[in-house]
Amino acid sequence: MNKPLIVITGASSGFGAAMAQNFNQQGYPMLLLARRVARIKALPLDFSNVRVAGVDVTDQAAFRAAIETAEKEFGQTDLLVNNAGVMLLGNVMNQDPKQWQQMLDVNVMGVLNGMQIVLPEMTKREHGTVVNISSLAGKKTFVNHAAYVASKFGVHGLSETIREEVSGKNVRVAMVAPGAAETELLTHVTDQGALKDYQAWKDSMGGITLDPKHVAEAVNFIYQMPQDVNIREIDIAATRQDS
Ligand code: NDP
Repeated sequence: MNKPLIVITGASSGFGAAMAQNFNQQGYPMLLLARRVARIKALPLDFSNVRVAGVDVTDQAAFRAAIETAEKEFGQTDLLVNNAGVMLLGNVMNQDPKQWQQMLDVNVMGVLNGMQIVLPEMTKREHGTVVNISSLAGKKTFVNHAAYVASKFGVHGLSETIREEVSGKNVRVAMVAPGAAETELLTHVTDQGALKDYQAWKDSMGGITLDPKHVAEAVNFIYQMPQDVNIREIDIAATRQDS
């Protein structure tokens, strides 16, 4: 039987790129989304059954159009991984509110957008999985992360709410909450003080690095369970991470 369609947001770097490689090696047809299309196209993938679209997840119409195009070719989406996200560290007393808005728009609205696109069909078919990439900052607090923490607590809250809502239709909503990892996430931080504190925290734990490939393995583990088993949440961090 042909494998079903997997959609991954934020596939141009970090965890999303690692997930793309994991599922590509297993032969799944995929739609990979991010704004930097060239970066996705440069990934070491077999692109024969991979489609790529330049989509900002805050633009629901573009997000929907890309998924509909891929579904015409590969059938209904069976797994959506809402992975796209931004972390702009800063102290709430002086951080530009535009940065709060960007985190809430991408990390919360982007996830809601994706779920609204795929869930009606999944619940109709009584089959399908959504995995939202939250963070340990979705369940505990970190200094200089106020708006990010707000956005990721949001992801935890909305994921569990929607999981309850669609559980009766045999649709799985799950979360992976990673700890600190080496990706491009920090490259967008503009507050040099907050960045220095974050780096010092990492150094104090021996320069911890959670390899993105293990986050990809966690998502795959959730997905490979039978449809009637839902691993609701995996928290995954480097062993040396203390918080
Ligand atoms: P990266 O910065 O490497 O990847 C982020 C991805 O999100 C990129 O592919 C980026 O693509 C995409 N993205 C950002 N904004 C948008 C947007 N508006 N529309 C579409 N895509 C967007 O970081 P990570 O891989 O670390 O981040 C992935 C997820 O993991 C995020 O949700 C993050 O919060 C979470 N996380 C990360 C941790 C870490 O320490 N790295 C720890 C815990 C959670 P492009 O710029 O091309 O659009």
